[in-house]
Amino acid sequence: MRAGITGIAPWRDIVQAAGVEKAGNMIRAAGLTVTCYCRAGLFPAADEAGRRAALDDNRRAVDEAAAIGARSLVLIAGGLPKGSKDIAGAWRQVHDGIAALLPHALDAGVPLAIEPLHPMYAADRACVNTLEQALDLCDALDPAGSGVPGGDAQARAALGVAVDLYHVWWDPKLEAQIARAGKERLLAFHVCDWLAKTRDLLEDRGMMGDGVIEIPKIRAWVEAAGFTGYSEVEIFSSLDWWKRPADEVLTTCIERHRTAV
Ligand code: ZN
Repeated sequence: MRAGITGIAPWRDIVQAAGVEKAGNMIRAAGLTVTCYCRAGLFPAADEAGRRAALDDNRRAVDEAAAIGARSLVLIAGGLPKGSKDIAGAWRQVHDGIAALLPHALDAGVPLAIEPLHPMYAADRACVNTLEQALDLCDALDPAGSGVPGGDAQARAALGVAVDLYHVWWDPKLEAQIARAGKERLLAFHVCDWLAKTRDLLEDRGMMGDGVIEIPKIRAWVEAAGFTGYSEVEIFSSLDWWKRPADEVLTTCIERHRTAV
């Protein structure tokens, strides 16, 4: 808040470590908007017991998201179960898992935001890799685009997508799929940059302006589709930004948000 940042997207491990109720109170006391809760999903499993455990955990994540007032819960699909090569089967498990979770999310008033991850994570993290695949799931599972109760300024579908530039910037269908999502299904917008020489596939994201993504162009597509939510800076960077003083990182994020987003 000192830096003028008014939204936050907390991760589950941190909220759980603090205690869900206490974390919710701290966030409310600080006057922060919880843009989204990161993250749940990871549906595929090798057997029925594993799938049931994943679903139970996802239901708990919905409850935690509701308790901290999150505007959405981010879902990543999950990859191949151990020993499996059946990516189509994994995709069906994701479909069935979200179908089973959706009624609980509707009851709790927490929209589910499917975040497609870059195809390099298809085996181990997420077999939903493009915005098109994520929207196909939305259309299959919630064709009517049910809204969440509560009446926000911004209409939100109960099932939508999180657009993270790191994962989708390369996609030739991106503009068309953002338009297809529309403002109801666009639940979150994550920004960072793609470094041409990426040294680590997970933790070497670039600061906005340091890489090759045409960020203002994509932001304009998202806004043209009607999105009025936050741009959330998400920079996993154990090789660089996580090593720097927090004040420097925040100052740079804010400055780059003005000049490069
Ligand atoms: Zn993200």
